[in-house]
Amino acid sequence: MSSFQTQRDLFDLPEGITYLDGNSLGPLPKSAVDRARTTMAEEWGPMLITGWNKARWMDLPARLGDRIGRLIGAPAGSTVVGDTLSIKVYQAVASAVEMRPGRKIVLSDNGNFPSDLYIADGLLKSLKQGHELKVVDPEAVAENITEDVAAVMLTHVDYRTGRVHDMKAITDKAHAAGAIMIWDLAHSAGALPVDLTGCNADIAVGCTYKYLNGGPGAPGFIHVRPDLIDQVRPALSGWLGHQAPFAFDLDYRPGEGISRMRVGTPPVIQMTVLDAALDAFDGVEMTDIRARSIELSEQFISEVEDGCKDVVLASPRDPQARGSQVSFRFHEGYAAMQALIARGIIGDFRAPDIMRFGFCPLYNTADDVRHAAAVLCEIIATGEWDRPEFKQRKAVT
Ligand SMILES: *Cc1c(COP(=O)(O)O)cnc(C)c1O
Repeated sequence: MSSFQTQRDLFDLPEGITYLDGNSLGPLPKSAVDRARTTMAEEWGPMLITGWNKARWMDLPARLGDRIGRLIGAPAGSTVVGDTLSIKVYQAVASAVEMRPGRKIVLSDNGNFPSDLYIADGLLKSLKQGHELKVVDPEAVAENITEDVAAVMLTHVDYRTGRVHDMKAITDKAHAAGAIMIWDLAHSAGALPVDLTGCNADIAVGCTYKYLNGGPGAPGFIHVRPDLIDQVRPALSGWLGHQAPFAFDLDYRPGEGISRMRVGTPPVIQMTVLDAALDAFDGVEMTDIRARSIELSEQFISEVEDGCKDVVLASPRDPQARGSQVSFRFHEGYAAMQALIARGIIGDFRAPDIMRFGFCPLYNTADDVRHAAAVLCEIIATGEWDRPEFKQRKAVT
């Protein structure tokens, strides 16, 4: 057993709910409620516009970037928070393509989250320079990194199966071919150790409302390797990425370092909530979180497979090749997940047939796992999922 101590008391988890969906939306940290109240009642209310200086709201994007940087192996001053992840993907791909003029391919895989693919494709079409988004199987990425590839854009942990790409090996391969490497850490940041510096990644982006518990709609982040940032021309050149936003110059000059990747006004309330949420990681090592997450996911796989023969593991069996989630295929996966939710066990469903369960050692325990596995097996054994109300598709799955 790992020595990791659960931090469950830091979270406001509803009574009677087993939450295994922190990979989609982290739960509410208790301190976030006070912090949002403070921001509104003690800063915004009395300070009004002077809060930008007095409460240092303008520093939040860089300060939060550094707090996240510690969790992903990025040096201080190389990560900034703001906008949504989709927008950060746009900036990453636009900058990468511009740094490799003459190369026309952006390479990704079909395990990537669709928004990343849509954004890259849309951007390349707007450029009208003959670029192509090439999407291959995850196993075929390495062999497709050729000298006409401008950028390789991959999500480290597959959102459906949890399969993990070898960041170091693929980054090395991309660099050997002269391509820019972009990593999306949406399902990695706060879930498993990431060493951006050690693998020499060029650009990384990610999300703060999943394992970082920043709340619905919390902003994304972007990191650029410090020796590259001066070459990066932010495609979304907003005023807050300007060298001197309050000079109100008519011409754009990119800001110092990573600050140039800022776009517009930061969402202050959401950012202070994220700041409070990140306290849960203080004094915690990602290697300890990882060790505990592997214990929980191994327990889940073994208990589900022992008790239920009708589901098929969709995640890699090797825990080192898996992120902090476990997915099972079941032909009526949507209905089975609705039946589980009706019994207070919250995971989620991804088309066409994947039931997805996220494990967050900050608040999930071995009892959660035992309970979820037992109820899942029971729902399938008794056919409890086979009711019309469980087959009605909701707008958000
Ligand atoms: C969650 C997720 C997104 C979502 O992007 P938003 O702009 O925050 O809606 C994008 N890409 C990946 C890989 C994700 O996992």
